[in-house]
Order: sequence, then C-alpha cells, then structure tokens
Amino acid sequence: MKYVVANWKMNLGVRESIALARGVLRAIQGHDQLPQIVVCPSATALSEVHKLLTRSHVLLGAQNAGPDKSGAFTGEIGLSQLDEVGCTFVIVGHSERRVHFHETDAVVAERLRAVVSAGLTPILCVGEPKDIRDSGKETAYVLRQLSSALADLKLSRNQKLLVAYEPIWAIGSGTPAALKDVLVMHESIRKFLQEDLHLSDERFAVLYGGSIEGKNAYQFLRESEVDGLLVGGASLKINEFTKILEAACDVVEAQASV
Ligand code: PEP
Repeated sequence: MKYVVANWKMNLGVRESIALARGVLRAIQGHDQLPQIVVCPSATALSEVHKLLTRSHVLLGAQNAGPDKSGAFTGEIGLSQLDEVGCTFVIVGHSERRVHFHETDAVVAERLRAVVSAGLTPILCVGEPKDIRDSGKETAYVLRQLSSALADLKLSRNQKLLVAYEPIWAIGSGTPAALKDVLVMHESIRKFLQEDLHLSDERFAVLYGGSIEGKNAYQFLRESEVDGLLVGGASLKINEFTKILEAACDVVEAQASV
C-alpha cells in the first residue's frame, strides 16, 4: 500500500477546492490499482469536497483538529465536527502549526491522542529544522518528537498511524531531501515504532514530505522504505499532482503484479 496525501493548506476557497478535487478524480479514472489518496482542504471546504468524494477512492483529511471535547474553545474545530463532515484522516503537528502557532510537543501529543480516541487516522508530522540537520543530530531530534507525541498513545485494534517525515528545510524549498537521507531516517522511524512502540508493520506507515513534484515522486515511491508522500505545493497544480498520482499508480500496479 502506498499513500498520497495532498495538503492544500490555506490556499483555496470552496469552489476552487471542488474543482481541484474533480481534477483528482479525473486523474485516477481508468486506473485499476490505486494508492490510498487523501485530500486535505481548508476546513471551510471539507463538507462540499466530501460530497464530491463520496463513493470514490479518495478520502478526506483535515489539516488540524482541536481538543477532544466540545465547548468553550473559540476558533477550534472538534473531532466530532470533522467526523460529521466526512473526515477520516487528520494531519497533526505539521511544522507550520508548530512554528507559526506555537504548538508544542505536549499540544501535539494531546491532539494526537484526541484524534486516535475519536477513531480517525492521524498523520503525525515530524522533521528537523536546518540547523539540527547541519549539526548531524536530526535522528535524535525526530525520535524525540516521535516519543513525545506517541507517549501514552493507545491505537485501537484496527487503527493505523501514519508518520510523515518532513524535514522543515525541504518544505516549499523546491529541493527535496536526498533520497539516501530519507531512507536512513525512515528506517530509524520504523525501528522506533516496531521496537519501542511494539507496532507491527501493518499498523503504521512512514511517508515523506518536502518539495515532492511530478519529476521526483517516483524515485521516492518505488522505495519499500517509503510508504507514501505528503504533498503541499505540487498538490495545488493538477498537472503536477496528476504526475505524482501516475507515479504512485505505476508503483502500486508493479507491486500488484509481483
Ligand atoms: C508540506 O508542507 O507538508 C509539504 C510537503 O509542502 P511542499 O510539498 O510544498 O514542500
């Protein structure tokens, strides 16, 4: 199984989101073997995009979620509200949330637990800033983010955890991290989830995100260490995103024919 997750961030209105979602559906027409595709529009477009995606192979995700309660949390969107508009995935701890909105490791851990207890599938983002990469301490940094976020997390029997490794310096830069570095990090993440969290392989997936485009998607997706991609900028351009989806379809078709 491979995942392709589109994070549209705060870019599109409702009509534009519907048009882009239609483009995604057109892009996968005629493919028998598909990756698991998840689109994450702005909160204002979730409901309308969900109507369009009903009975398709494309699932809906939210870019963030509020606390595990309802009530006096002005400006937040709760898990039951996301569930009501058809979300099955939620991005948690994206670096833009951590940097611009000061979501600490403790907040990320709390939101992750809330997503899991609501029965949705979390896409937990981790990744180091440039100075940490330059100091050679990126693995320790990412594993610390992981262990903090995953402390006390209880996945239910059929629930899956998606972890997206997104080095902050690669996001939106036009240059992804070197494949060999991504593979090393994914291996460390995988080992941590298996050995420290005792999760079996089918309970989690490790995705890469950071300047993925049509021209580089295949080289990441064909690696068994890369369970999928989290795509920002390129997911907003349907021609570019179609190329990424085609690369994913090729890999999934090749896997199915083995
Ligand atoms: C992201 O912000 O999650 C991301 C991967 O962005 P981009 O693809 O634009 O680097």
